Order: sequence, then structure tokens, then C-alpha cells
Amino acid sequence: MANARHLVFIGPPGTGKGTQAARLRARFGWAQLSSGDVLRQEIAAESAVGVQAREYVESGTLVPDDVITDVMLSAIGRMPAGDGFVLDGFPRTVPQAEALELGLAARGLGIDAAFDFRLADQSIIERIGSRRICKDCGATYNVRFNPPKVAGVCDQCGGRNIVQRADDREDVIATRLATYREQTAPLIDYYQDRGVLVEVDAALSMEEVERVLVARISQLEGSR
Ligand code: AMP
Repeated sequence: MANARHLVFIGPPGTGKGTQAARLRARFGWAQLSSGDVLRQEIAAESAVGVQAREYVESGTLVPDDVITDVMLSAIGRMPAGDGFVLDGFPRTVPQAEALELGLAARGLGIDAAFDFRLADQSIIERIGSRRICKDCGATYNVRFNPPKVAGVCDQCGGRNIVQRADDREDVIATRLATYREQTAPLIDYYQDRGVLVEVDAALSMEEVERVLVARISQLEGSR
């Protein structure tokens, strides 16, 4: 396994963050922690967090900072010390980033790189329109660029519940993009100020984006 690294993926929805986090997990054995996946699981389980989160997720607005921060810091806290991780979708506001920084510092850790996935809105809307998700295991597909090997059957779990996410509908996407611009884009300056921001051209193919990420990650390792 490569040296454990602690990475954050920012960038709007539909830019391939989840896909690339899964690829890095497979390649390096690091954990992939997706705040959206965690919330969808909590909602499906009708847990206390799920009940609180549901209306925000369905409308494309952000779950309150304290709710998601507690959930994600506890998930990080359960990971064995020394493991690498990719955080996908968290933090999404500056207060979340500050809480993460404090939580990690308490464990002697920090963020090694924040990858900012960049893509034009029109392409985002197109990609999200053809995105599908496995309701059973959370695996994501794109009916145009990355379909399951057998139509309708999840490659990962074999389930037959590949559906469009309710919040991937066109009316909700507009809210999610506006929410990103207002509340999440400020994280670009936050991580730039800390000297860890790396821009990624998300218009490249999946394979090319992965190559770029792996090259940048190996430079991180070389610099230490
Ligand atoms: P995602 O799967 O990352 O697109 O997230 C789906 C939805 O979950 C978002 O539209 C938000 O409602 C909620 N969510 C995910 N991550 C966060 C976060 N870090 N802060 C607040 N809400 C979040």
C-alpha cells in the first residue's frame, strides 16, 4: 500500500468525485468516506440523523453543519490510526472544514491535498442526467460513459436496483449547483490559503483524471 494520505475532494456534484474516490480506494486501499452515501444510508434506515437529514437531501440544500460534522468525525474516529482516506462531499462549508481540521489535529493528522474537480455547468447537468446509483450498495454508474457490465445489474453487489437518485432530477440539480456556489466554493480559497489545493480538470476521461490524481499523489509522497 502507498503511504497513507488524507485527501479531500471538493467540486460540484456530478464531477466524478465518487467514481475517483472508489478508484483510489481500490488502488491504494485507503478508505472512501462519502458524506452523501452516509446520509442516504441513514435516511434509508430511518435513524435519528436520517430523519433530520431527509428534507435537506431531497431538496438539494445542505444538512446543518453540526449534524454532518458529528457523523463524519465519528466515522473518521472509527478508522484505524495510520489508514489513508478520501473524503468525498465533506467538508462542504468553511465551518465544516474548520471542524475537520480541529478533529484531525487532535489525532496528529492534517489534510495532505484538497482536489478541486472543475467542470462547466452544462456538462454537469448532462452527466447528472445520465447518472444512476445502485440502491443496494451505493455504486454509481453513468448510462452513457460508465454503464454496468450487464444492463440493470450492479457490477459490485449483483443487485437489480439501479435507479436515478431523487435529487438528480433536473429541478433539484439547479438548487444543488446554487448551493455549491454559495456555500462550498469558498472552500477553494480556504484550502488555497493552506497550500494544499490542487485543481483537477474533470472534463477529462475517467482514466485520465485517475492518472492526474495518482501523479499528484505520488508528488505529495515525494515531497515528504
Ligand atoms: P452528494 O451525494 O455528495 O451529492 O450529497 C447528497 C446530499 O447530501 C447533498 O445535496 C446534501 O443535501 C447532503 N450532504 C452531503 N454532504 C454534505 C455535507 N458535507 N454538508 C451538508 N450536507 C451534505
